[in-house]
Amino acid sequence: MNAQKNRRPVETDACFFARRNGKRISAHTAYTMKFLCAILLSFLFAACPAACSTQPEQPQNADYSHTETQPHEEREIFLTFDDGPTDSVTPLVLDVLQKESVKATFFLIGRQIEGREQIVRRIAAEGHAIGIHSYSHEYGKIYATPGTLLRDIEDCRTAIRKALPQYEPTLYRFPGGSFGLSETLKQTVKEHGLHAYDWNAATGDANLPLPDAKQQYRNAVQSAADRQKIILLQHDCVGQKNTVLCLPSIIAHFRELGYTFKTLPN
Ligand SMILES: [Zn+2]
Repeated sequence: MNAQKNRRPVETDACFFARRNGKRISAHTAYTMKFLCAILLSFLFAACPAACSTQPEQPQNADYSHTETQPHEEREIFLTFDDGPTDSVTPLVLDVLQKESVKATFFLIGRQIEGREQIVRRIAAEGHAIGIHSYSHEYGKIYATPGTLLRDIEDCRTAIRKALPQYEPTLYRFPGGSFGLSETLKQTVKEHGLHAYDWNAATGDANLPLPDAKQQYRNAVQSAADRQKIILLQHDCVGQKNTVLCLPSIIAHFRELGYTFKTLPN
């Protein structure tokens, strides 16, 4: 939804009508035309409130804090990719990001890093941020106790360090998001010095059946609505070719709306 276009000032001068088609018409005729247009527009807005709404459906489980649009503040979007690295999808995502000169954040699964260290090094070398997602991504094991959660985090950190010995990941995303988790588990991560991020928009690329690229684009646009700061959830796990296909359109859309693409801050 193009909010900037909606905010374009409306030309109210009667001469606007007088200039149409390069013809000069009388001021009286111009004002009559304006009056009729106003009546017609009032009728249309009253007749179709749903179609004219600027409030798209909100995504579930979204964090809406600090996302209200404020005038003159920078609009930012943080593309995030979970569940990589993979041989088949992560390099394709990186190719698109490189071509578009866009930086993103990758939340990695530790057990998938072995044998794909070069991909992890490429993510870092191209200026993207790397965060801890999980080692096993098995909810039952991870969330059993604060201790099992920390073990999973540290195993993932160790796997990342095998690819990038100097890298100190401080970003974290709870597998499945933090929605519904106990305060104890959330506090455990915080006290461990990690900055956890959920999301407030999504392409739905983890839904079943898998949405096609056009639907993923629509999901991203609709769920992001008109927020000042957007954290978009996507996945670069096996089989996510549609995630790659819709990425250029998503980037073009938010770029046109004036958003700056950034990596999540530490
Ligand atoms: Zn995940």
